[in-house]
Amino acid sequence: MIDKQHLINRFISYVTVDTESDPESETTPSTAKQWDLANALAQELKDIGLTEVSIDENAYIMATLPANVDHEVPVIGFVSHFDTSPDFTGANVKPRIVENYDGKDIVLNEAENIVLSPDYFEDLLLYKGKTLITTDGTTLLGADDKAGIAEIVSAMEYLVNHPEIKHGKIRVGFTPDEEIGRGAHKFDVEKFGADWAYTMDGSQIGELEYENFNAAGAVVTVKGKIVHPGYAKGKMVNSMYIATDYINSLPRMETPEHTEGREGFFHLHTIKGEVDSTKLQYIIRDHDREHFEARKEMMQQLADELNAQYEKEVISVEIKDQYYNMREKIEPVMHIVELAEKAMKKAGIEPLIKPIRGGTDGSQLSFKGLPCPNIFAGGHNFHGRFEYVPVESMQKAIEVIVNIAQLAATKK
Ligand SMILES: [Zn+2]
Repeated sequence: MIDKQHLINRFISYVTVDTESDPESETTPSTAKQWDLANALAQELKDIGLTEVSIDENAYIMATLPANVDHEVPVIGFVSHFDTSPDFTGANVKPRIVENYDGKDIVLNEAENIVLSPDYFEDLLLYKGKTLITTDGTTLLGADDKAGIAEIVSAMEYLVNHPEIKHGKIRVGFTPDEEIGRGAHKFDVEKFGADWAYTMDGSQIGELEYENFNAAGAVVTVKGKIVHPGYAKGKMVNSMYIATDYINSLPRMETPEHTEGREGFFHLHTIKGEVDSTKLQYIIRDHDREHFEARKEMMQQLADELNAQYEKEVISVEIKDQYYNMREKIEPVMHIVELAEKAMKKAGIEPLIKPIRGGTDGSQLSFKGLPCPNIFAGGHNFHGRFEYVPVESMQKAIEVIVNIAQLAATKK
């Protein structure tokens, strides 16, 4: 299959370019440095022999591997993002290669005593004997999602070099700013022109996902009245107490730390308060659309009850939907999930299908008309210093991409 050292070199050439995105920025890409990798990727796609290579004014990259069969085959896309998370620094990444991993602690950084340990990260034990790429403990790695990019580029290169493998037209799409929730925003689905696509942006080998949260953000504003504390009787209204009543009226066990699987939650993530006014910021998450709507109604209703109690508007709730569960867009085209399952099994991988407790670019793309399940890219512990990726998982992901291309073109 794909040469291991060639893949490692390619991956390292990507992660050593800093492409951290910035939620405070309003430009696309959110950081100018993302152009550095974007321009190099566009050139590389041309160099490996893809056609229709384009990079638009927002740094979205698209390219084509033309079909090498005459019969009609659906156009399939593969999508990844080249930015890295602003949660942790992505500057000066110095990847370390751990060959033939022995299942013990990996000292990432002796000076700072930073250790990647299977005592804490049990998943490591899945990869005994494999080649791991880790950080030096001071940055994230950026396997999220440069592993996905390396896999797609390598799979396309492989297909170019092996014309005996028959496939339809394949489209490649690389985006900026996924980590700040904007990867799909300016993605031109029509120009991409695929019947469906896969994001290569999952974690552990075998992951296949087509369900994610429905998501909304809520800002709760509480108005009080500030009066000199010595003369406050019957006059002062302390917004922080009203806010506390509101917080406590929501179900205490329906929070991230008490839920898993398909259980939804309310997550209070920020409080800013003084006597005069308090602001609460929540996110609301639920896989089930009806439950999701009920959660939003509940937040409004609890505010209404407090307002009734105070006989005026002391509290107001503003809710904005953020994204929706792609399941409703995937279920009518389940064959695209089945194709990915088949491609994994052909590569000797048991598919791990589970709901994502988050969102993906694929969910936004699905709602923009491009059904887009998510496939593993192989990395673990995203967005931090303990991020790592087994090279063999990346090799398997490449095989899955090649198999999808081949299986889709097989005459039934
Ligand atoms: Zn990602």
